[in-house]
Amino acid sequence: MTRDDILADIVVIGAGQAGLSSAYHLTRLGIARGDGFVVLDHAPGPGGAWQFRWPSLTLTTVNAVHDLPGMGFAEHTGTADAADSVRASVAVPHYYADYEREFALPVRRPVHVRVVCDRDGLLRVETDGSTYLARGLINATGTWERPFVPYYPGTETFRGRQLHTKDYRNADEFAGEHVLVVGGGVSAVQLLDEISRVTATTWATRREPVFRDEDFSPEIGRAAVALVEERVRQGLPPGSVVSVTGLPVTPSIRAARERGVLDRRPMFDEITPTGVRWADGTTLDVDVIFWNTGFRSSLDHLAPLRLRGPGGGITMTGRLATQVASDPRIHLVGYGPSASTIGANRAGRAAALELTRHLGLR
Ligand SMILES: Cc1cc2nc3c(=O)[nH]c(=O)nc-3n(C[C@H](O)[C@H](O)[C@H](O)COP(=O)(O)OP(=O)(O)OC[C@H]3O[C@@H](n4cnc5c(N)ncnc54)[C@H](O)[C@@H]3O)c2cc1C
Repeated sequence: MTRDDILADIVVIGAGQAGLSSAYHLTRLGIARGDGFVVLDHAPGPGGAWQFRWPSLTLTTVNAVHDLPGMGFAEHTGTADAADSVRASVAVPHYYADYEREFALPVRRPVHVRVVCDRDGLLRVETDGSTYLARGLINATGTWERPFVPYYPGTETFRGRQLHTKDYRNADEFAGEHVLVVGGGVSAVQLLDEISRVTATTWATRREPVFRDEDFSPEIGRAAVALVEERVRQGLPPGSVVSVTGLPVTPSIRAARERGVLDRRPMFDEITPTGVRWADGTTLDVDVIFWNTGFRSSLDHLAPLRLRGPGGGITMTGRLATQVASDPRIHLVGYGPSASTIGANRAGRAAALELTRHLGLR
């Protein structure tokens, strides 16, 4: 420890839904702001990943943004009537900013956490500024910064453009181009619908997509969460939830289906300089390959702690599976079963309760 190191009982990394919920509950449990706990976030402003999402993602096209504990989103934004024109990338950051102010949450930004390691029984959190020494850690760094693109042979030879969901701004940039949309999740379908209104598209997915015509029910949500929770409790990587929930058929998705846009092709086997090739030799020339192939958890900074087990994931325990089984000082919130705004809320509470108890702080 050096004179400049900052001591804190708990460091929370990330000020998205998961980090803010955790911070709210730590405050409610009487943990002092500052030397009790601090929240570090490297983004330029409040909003977590929402501040970076594409402009056409509005409060109508998002699945749902659940209230943070103690402050309602709808009442706060007062935008129910104009939801289809309100950008999520504006409304949610605005809500989070007011939330941080209302509850005087000790968020320090921009602070980039480079690495966390074990040092004499404490967790040494090295940042691009100060170093923090903590007794416990709540990691809430989300998935946005780890876009996942699967490897296909020939990818480096492709002369067109390849981009990921994270890079998307709007459909007009593709006008006149043939766009191959890859992926079977909600983002893939929504963006395929958008892009197909301005230009030619083809859709490729690994599995036959399953559409869900009925409304999203709490039972469907619970089944998806239970499946992912089971996986992380076994130390497996969290996996996708769409296989359980199916793809919601909104009016615009129904219209896209009628336009023939959702006629899906199986995954190709190879990328060529001008497009893609399937195993049967069929080829397709495209200008753009748009990977909507998901995200992974941003956990690289925790690598020295060697949390991953032989199953390829981190074995989780605790009431809502937020606690790392091999190191109870560490909770992952917004990971696996809690990677949704509602899940992050609940997990933040569970992590705050369990970690403060484990550390003897109450
Ligand atoms: C395209 C898309 C749409 C989605 N739509 C919905 C939806 O409609 N409803 C829903 O419930 N969920 C949705 N989700 C899931 C969504 O990501 C979560 O619900 C939730 O908002 C994530 O919150 P989080 O706090 O876990 O992560 P984030 O919001 O990503 O916050 C993580 C924070 O950690 C910070 N951070 C990361 N690494 C570091 C580091 N090394 N040092 C310092 N700070 C760091 C980041 O700056 C960021 O502020 C969507 C996800 C995607 C990808």
